[in-house]
Amino acid sequence: MSGSTARLQAIDAVKGYQPPAGIFPTPGAPGEVFGQNVFTKTVMQARLPKTVFKSVIATIEHAQTLDPTIADVVASAMKDWAMERGATHYAHVFYPLTGLTAEKHDSFLEPGLDGSSIAEFAGKTLTQGEPDASSFPNGGLRATFEARGYTGWDVTSPAYILENPNGNTLCIPTVFVSMTGEALDHKTPLLRSQQAMAKQADRILHLFGHQKPDSVVSFAGAEQEYFLIDRSFFFSRPDLLNSGRTLFGALPPKGQEFDDHYFGAIPDRVLAFMLDSENELFKLGIPAKTRHNEVAPGQFELAPMFERANVATDHQQLLMVTLKKVALKHGMEVLFHEKPFAGINGSGKHVNFSLGNTTEGNLLLPGDTPHENAQFLVFCAAVIRAVHKYAGLLRASVASATNDHRLGANEAPPAIISIFLGDQLTDVFDQVAKGGATASKEKGTLMIGVDTLPVLPTDPGDRNRTSPFAFTGNRFEFRAPGALQSIAGPMVTINTILAEALDHIATELDSLIADGVEFNSAVQKVLEEIITVHGTVVFNGDGYSDDWQIEAEARGLPNLRTTLDALPELITEESLELFSTYGVFNHREMHSRYEIALEHYAMSIEVEAKLTLEMAKTQILPAALRYQTELATNLASSLAIGHEPDRSTFEETSATITELQAAIRALTEDLAHDHPLDPMLEARHAADDHLPAMLAVRAAADALEGMVADDLWPLPTYQEMLYIL
Ligand code: ADP
Ligand code: MG
Repeated sequence: MSGSTARLQAIDAVKGYQPPAGIFPTPGAPGEVFGQNVFTKTVMQARLPKTVFKSVIATIEHAQTLDPTIADVVASAMKDWAMERGATHYAHVFYPLTGLTAEKHDSFLEPGLDGSSIAEFAGKTLTQGEPDASSFPNGGLRATFEARGYTGWDVTSPAYILENPNGNTLCIPTVFVSMTGEALDHKTPLLRSQQAMAKQADRILHLFGHQKPDSVVSFAGAEQEYFLIDRSFFFSRPDLLNSGRTLFGALPPKGQEFDDHYFGAIPDRVLAFMLDSENELFKLGIPAKTRHNEVAPGQFELAPMFERANVATDHQQLLMVTLKKVALKHGMEVLFHEKPFAGINGSGKHVNFSLGNTTEGNLLLPGDTPHENAQFLVFCAAVIRAVHKYAGLLRASVASATNDHRLGANEAPPAIISIFLGDQLTDVFDQVAKGGATASKEKGTLMIGVDTLPVLPTDPGDRNRTSPFAFTGNRFEFRAPGALQSIAGPMVTINTILAEALDHIATELDSLIADGVEFNSAVQKVLEEIITVHGTVVFNGDGYSDDWQIEAEARGLPNLRTTLDALPELITEESLELFSTYGVFNHREMHSRYEIALEHYAMSIEVEAKLTLEMAKTQILPAALRYQTELATNLASSLAIGHEPDRSTFEETSATITELQAAIRALTEDLAHDHPLDPMLEARHAADDHLPAMLAVRAAADALEGMVADDLWPLPTYQEMLYIL
C-alpha cells in the first residue's frame, strides 16, 4: 500500500527502512576507546611540566584557586593535543538558561604578519571568552545596552574534542556571567553551591576529629529516560517537531499494561543505536553503563556512572546531545520530553547523589564503626532537615511546563516532597528521637547512644519507587527531576540546602561543646532536635496513594501541584536569604531566574497552543470534513436508490466535527487576547486559559481519530509511533 497522506508515506518509509551501509560501529575495547577524546589527567600528566600539572590537579581535586600564570602553558599543550587529533577550532561551551548547550566557535588559526596563518591559542583565550550574550535570557540582569557576557574556563570539567566531518572542535567547559559577574548560566551557581556545601561539611568533619580532611564534593548519577521513534514519524508530527510532545493522539488499545517491556528484548535497531551511542559516549569519557527498556513501549534508559556533580552535569548535557546525534544516524529521533505521549508512562531523570572526599570516602555510607555511623547519621540528619525545611525549593527546582505533565501522574512521584529512609534507618532515628534508645530493629539489643551505634547495613534491602527522595543504601535518589531538564538546578538546590543544614549542625555542636557538653552527647542532642522538628518529612509508605495526599496535608508538608504553584518559592524571603547567605545567588540573580522560568513557561505553552490550532485547522479538520463528505455522499446514494440508510455514523461524526470547530474558535479567541505585561499574569493566562482550550480541541480531535477513515487520517498514531521501530 502506498499512502497518500504524510502519515501513510511515513509508515511506508519506516517499513522499508534499511540501515545505511557501515553504520554499525565496531566498538573498540572499552579500555581503548574510553576518554580518547578527552584532555584527561593522564594526557595532562604526559604533556604538562610537572609543577604545572600539580597546580592544575590541586585546582581540580582539592578546590584550590587556579594559578593564573600557568594558563599559557596549559593552553599550548591543549592546543597541540587537540590539533594532533584533527581539531581546527575551539569552542567555549556554556549552559545558558535556555536549558540548551551553547558554543562559541573560533579557529585556532590566526593570520600571521606575513599573510600566512599561525596556530594561536593563548592562556587568555583558554580562560576567557566574550560571546555575544544578547540572545540569551538574562531576566533583566543585563541592561540592553550592555549585551556582553563572559565565559570563563571551568578547570574542574575536562576539555574534550567533538568529532565532525568538517573538522573537529576542542570544547572547553565554561561558566557564563555578565560584566558585573552575575550568573547567566547553570554552571556558575553549581560551582558556588558546591563550595558553600564543602565549607560546612568541612566543619563537621573537623568536629569529628579529622585533622586535614580533603574538600568534600557532591556526586551525581543521573538516570536518563527517553523515547525513541522513527524519524519519518517524527517529521510527520509538527507537534513533536516543534514542542517535543504530541498534542493529539488517542491512546492505543494496547497501552502500557505491557509490563513485559521492562527488561524485555531490545529491538535490533535500538540495540545498534545503543552500542553506537555508548561508543561515542565512551570516547567523550562519559561512563554510560546500564541499558534496559523502561515501562512504556519505545521507552529506554541510560544511566552513566556517577561522577562529581559538576562533571556529571556537563556530561549529562553532552549525553543528550550525543544521543540525538547518534539517533539521527540510525534514522531515529530521541524524545526527551517528560510526557511525549499523554496517558503513557513519562520520562524522568532521577538524580542519585552523595557527598564525599578522598580521605573519608562516601559520607552517606553507613560505616563499620559506631563513630563512623554517628558521622553518617549527622549527614543523613542534614538531608532530613534540608529537605523538610526547603521542600518548596526542591519542588521549584524541578518545575517546568513540560514536567507538569509528569509529576503527580500515576507513574511519577507526587508533587509532595517527602523522604524515604527504609525501615531500619527510620527505626534508628526513632530511637534517637527518644533520647538515644537501646535497641536496633535487626540486631537485638544494642546500645545506641551515638558512641555505640549499631552497625548499619549498606543495603537496606527495601526500595520504594513512589518516593520523590529516597535513601538507597549509600546515596539519596531525587526522582522528581524531568527527563528534559539539566540536573544543575536540582544539584544547586541540594548543595545549598545541605550547606544550611550542615552549618546549623556545626554551629549547634560548637555551642554545646563550648558549654561543656561531651561530644557524643552533643551529637545525640542535635540529632534528637532535628528528627523531632523535621521528622515529619520521613514517609516510607505509598507516595502514589490518595491517603498520602491527605496525610501530608495534616503533616503540614507543601503540595505544590503545578509549576506556577512552585515557582514563587524561589523568591520568598527565606529563599532569597538562604541563597545570598551561602553566596549562591544574590537577590537580583534569584529574581532573574524566577522571571526567566515564568517567561519560559508561558512561551512554551503559547507555542503549543498555536501548534494545536494550526494542526487542528490544517490537518485534522480537513481530514474530518473529507470523511464527512464521503459519508454524506454515501447517504445520498442510498437515498437515491430508495434505501433508508443508517445515519448514525454520519451524525456522530458531524457532531464531533461541530465540537472541534467550536473548540477551534474558542482557542482562536483565547490566543487573540492581549498579553499581560506581568510575567506571572502571562504565565497564569497560559495555564488557566490556553491549556484548557487546547485540551478541548484535543478531545474532539482524538475522538475523530477513532471515526475518520484510516486512509484519510493525517497523523501517525500512538500505536504506530510506539510499536514500529
Ligand atoms: P535504579 O534504576 O535501580 O535506580 P541505576 O543502576 O539505573 O539504578 O542507576 C543508579 C545510578 O546511581 C547510577 O547513575 C549510579 O552510578 C548512581 N550511583 C551509584 N552510587 C552512587 C553514589 N554513591 N552517589 C551518587 N550516585 C550513585
Ligand atoms: Mg532510579
